[in-house]
Amino acid sequence: MAAAEPTTPVVIALGSNLGDSLAILSQALEYLTENYGLHLIRHSHWYRTPPLGPPQPDFFNGCALFHTHESPDQLLHCLWETEQYFGRIRTGKWQPRTLDLDIIFYGQEVIHTPHLTIPHPEYHRRAFVLVPLAEIVPDWRDPRTGVTVRELRQQVDCSGIRMVKDF
Ligand code: ADP
Ligand code: MG
Repeated sequence: MAAAEPTTPVVIALGSNLGDSLAILSQALEYLTENYGLHLIRHSHWYRTPPLGPPQPDFFNGCALFHTHESPDQLLHCLWETEQYFGRIRTGKWQPRTLDLDIIFYGQEVIHTPHLTIPHPEYHRRAFVLVPLAEIVPDWRDPRTGVTVRELRQQVDCSGIRMVKDF
């Protein structure tokens, strides 16, 4: 009997503030599992968040835990393709987008390449990531510092983040 292929737990952060954001976020989870080697384990509620940067619509954010056979680079390409499929046009940092997909964790790996930094370089400062992240993986430790997601969540101001009910 063939041994099961090893899989790695990975955490993806999702965001949207253009178009029908809540529908796009749910459809993106389906799209990722149907088109790539990603198995959805669980996802957070969606949260409504005031935008950073210039004035623009509120963001909707969430996080999802998958198991995957894809390498980190393959996973980044899956996310780029999925952003494209949902109509994202890259106009620059802090601009409105139909879908933003970021890799927060890839197992306990620490990666620094020109295209990819894992853990995500900003996640530990962003309440809109840490609130949904703490819902799905509170005991996950940052591989660089050993600090848990629950502890990081307690260190940021989460007052602007509202859970979306009934969805
Ligand atoms: P942001 O998510 O910071 O608003 P973008 O979505 O436009 O910005 O991403 C810009 C680039 O960041 C991507 O093209 C990708 O190469 C790079 N990047 C580096 N680390 C990551 C990561 N952990 N997850 C997703 N993209 C990353
Ligand atoms: Mg991104």
